[in-house]
Amino acid sequence: MKLYISADMEGIAGILTEEQTNPARGTDYARACGLMTGEVNAACEGAGSGGATSILVNDSHWNMRNIMHEQLPPAVRLIQGIGKPLSMNQGLEPSFDAAAFIGYHAPIGIRDAVLDHTYSDATIYDVRINGDRCSEARLNAAVAGHFNVPVIFLSGDQNACADARSFLPWARTVAVKEAIGRHAAASLSPMRARAEVRAGMELAVRAFQSGDAKPYGFAKPIHLELTFTSTAKADMAGLFPGTRRVDGRTLTLSDDDYMAVFNAFRAMTALGGCA
Ligand SMILES: [Zn+2]
Repeated sequence: MKLYISADMEGIAGILTEEQTNPARGTDYARACGLMTGEVNAACEGAGSGGATSILVNDSHWNMRNIMHEQLPPAVRLIQGIGKPLSMNQGLEPSFDAAAFIGYHAPIGIRDAVLDHTYSDATIYDVRINGDRCSEARLNAAVAGHFNVPVIFLSGDQNACADARSFLPWARTVAVKEAIGRHAAASLSPMRARAEVRAGMELAVRAFQSGDAKPYGFAKPIHLELTFTSTAKADMAGLFPGTRRVDGRTLTLSDDDYMAVFNAFRAMTALGGCA
């Protein structure tokens, strides 16, 4: 059983603020890397106990060099670094049996959600596909779905988990903290969070082998509605071919191919980030 893991930081127990999640902002960051590595390690251990024989982890947070590889089981391969064409989904391919998201967070605009954002809180005000607000989990689950890979597990705060359950009813979720607003939460202890992630992942991998997990996808045509944090950002993102400006800050684009939509979303976000 071959498992793919995408790991973010905002949904790890004990993580609350950008002083922890921003590599350039000081001493709390090093400790946050330890917390993230601990939960990713627990996920790998649980997956191994459940029957995963091959695990690829993609570090999916900020500069994507946060996880300490030397603290993961020796058989785990780790993707690190930025400039990856598939970003948080780099390495996904049809040979994987299942995928899991560790340390994930709720979409931008959800209250009581630690560091709610979707890909870039400096650039993106809202992302909707076919009218539904999209989290990173949802956008990424559809990339996995494009490769025919179902998402079977997610950990994060209570609202990251609720978001995942709303479109992945077969997935197991573990809430490692109860968010109280954007920058506060009641967290499990790191040791308890790791134990719950380890146990939840083991159950998810076992359930997958007998279960009803499905690759996730959007109904076609896939209609993307992307609202930027400023009109200047929408001006730049509107240079991307095929977009339509529907109001000062919002662009839309439609396609039957989800990867065309996802790549357009990434390119528009990068263009908007230049303004
Ligand atoms: Zn994120």
